[in-house]
Amino acid sequence: MRISVIGCGYLGAVHAASMAELGHDVVGIDVDERKISSLSAGVAPFFEPGLPEILSTASASGRLTFTTDMSAAAIADVHFIAVGTPQKAGSYSADMTYVDAALDSLLPFLKAGDLVVGKSTVPVGTAARLAERVHEAAPGAELAWNPEFLREGFAVKDTISPDRLVYGVSDDAESGARSKALLDEVYAKAIGEGTPLVVTDYATAELVKVSANAFLATKISFINAIAEIAEVTGANVTELADAIGFDTRIGRRFLNAGIGFGGGCLPKDIRAFGARAEELGRGESLSFLKEVDAINLRRRQRVVDLVVELLGGQAFEKRVAVLGLAFKPDSDDIRDSPALDIAVQLNGLGADVLATDPEAIANAHAKHPQLVFVESLEDAVRDAEVVLLLTEWADYRRLVPDDIESLVAGKRIIDGRNVLDSQQWRSAGWDYRAMGRP
Ligand code: NAD
Repeated sequence: MRISVIGCGYLGAVHAASMAELGHDVVGIDVDERKISSLSAGVAPFFEPGLPEILSTASASGRLTFTTDMSAAAIADVHFIAVGTPQKAGSYSADMTYVDAALDSLLPFLKAGDLVVGKSTVPVGTAARLAERVHEAAPGAELAWNPEFLREGFAVKDTISPDRLVYGVSDDAESGARSKALLDEVYAKAIGEGTPLVVTDYATAELVKVSANAFLATKISFINAIAEIAEVTGANVTELADAIGFDTRIGRRFLNAGIGFGGGCLPKDIRAFGARAEELGRGESLSFLKEVDAINLRRRQRVVDLVVELLGGQAFEKRVAVLGLAFKPDSDDIRDSPALDIAVQLNGLGADVLATDPEAIANAHAKHPQLVFVESLEDAVRDAEVVLLLTEWADYRRLVPDDIESLVAGKRIIDGRNVLDSQQWRSAGWDYRAMGRP
């Protein structure tokens, strides 16, 4: 297939390289010249395991090119829209200006028989609106919505071997069948391997994505709400999660209490979903998502309060080590990162914060130059009065008291992800605090 991918960020760059890896001819298009020149040189513009490898094999094969020139889309038959849909400033709604602008610039290059495929996460109703514009500008071209479920850190694997495929296609039987046939060709490998496929209407496809994220966010906030109760009763939320997780109707995954969720998807997607429900006159149906959001944000405050408590009532000029800045391990993405938010709040209280992360320092520095960043864990913890483990990178999960004991000024640690062995730290004389665990 000849494919264009419009928007080469965390989703689009991986999608473009993965499609080329699958044997398609792909052009990736973005308005960001820096990103395009990096991708053109075969260099991943962000950290994602496995991306550098497929970028270089695909570029060498000649099947993958990148450009800022939208006219390059003219040679493709299938056009993926993968641009951002961030939270609008001053509102909970999704900012649709990038999706609209991407389609505007693509329309002049569409021809009959082409398929435009929406991948971005959008408010329900978007696909129907954009389909009209495609039909008007390019009679004989079609639009489908194909939401993306990749997880950063596993994005390449999730794109090449997804756990399911969802196609939202036109209600018109003939157009719908044509769109499905084209997408089946794009995803021939995954389909051949028996990947579950749901072919549905536009609205359902759009809602599948935001409902999945709303469910995952709710599961995390559920266990974090229980952690709040555990904290005042002396119960252990991790043992509780193990126990309820044995019930296969509940399941253990996404029940890790901690400092909550972040990133470029869950927070803005639940807010946009709620805002869209309000526009549709059904705000009450999703009002629980406001609570999910509030519980999530309280976990960040909980860590800040704990730090102040451990420091005897005030953090001013106290040295605090922050381990982890990315919103999750194996990513350099700091969008709405709880770890970074906590570091910023402590800095705002006058604490002397030294922060580190294996991959996210450059992004964190660009957004919050007022923070002090150090490259190594040892430099971060040196002379620290309290150590915070906020992103559970593998290296931090393996941390033992011996590694840092001789460096710190005070043996106090907050395990924001409940990944350390509390017994081990306490028996080494540390004041160890976790989230919802005694
Ligand atoms: P991102 O900000 O990393 O990338 C968006 C890219 O679009 C940027 O490189 C930007 O320069 C480019 N862009 C903006 N306007 C453009 C235009 N008019 N023409 C061409 N390019 C343009 O965002 P992302 O994380 O890749 O997310 C993209 C979409 O995918 C969002 O809707 C997001 O919710 C959804 N999504 C993301 C993930 C994820 O894990 N990142 C997973 C599933 C779905």
